[in-house]
Amino acid sequence: MATCPRCKGPLTDDHRCPKRQGLVIIEIVATALGGGLAGLLLLAAFDPRGQIADLDVITFIGGAAVAVGVNRLIRS
Ligand SMILES: [Zn+2]
Repeated sequence: MATCPRCKGPLTDDHRCPKRQGLVIIEIVATALGGGLAGLLLLAAFDPRGQIADLDVITFIGGAAVAVGVNRLIRS
C-alpha cells in the first residue's frame, strides 16, 4: 500500500493527514474561549443590568464545556 508523503500513514482513498497535537489543543482552547464568551454574551442579553453577575464564571465554564462537547460530537 502506498504511504502518504506527509504523515507516512497508509494512503487510502479518503486519506486525511492527522492534525498535529499542538493544533488540536489550540483548536480546543479556541473553541472553549469562544463558547465561554458566547455564554457571557447570552447572560448579558438576558440580564442587561448585571443582577446575576455572580454567575459570570459559571456561565463562562458552562459555555466553554458545551462548545467543546458540541465540537467533539461534530468531529467524531
Ligand atoms: Zn497523510
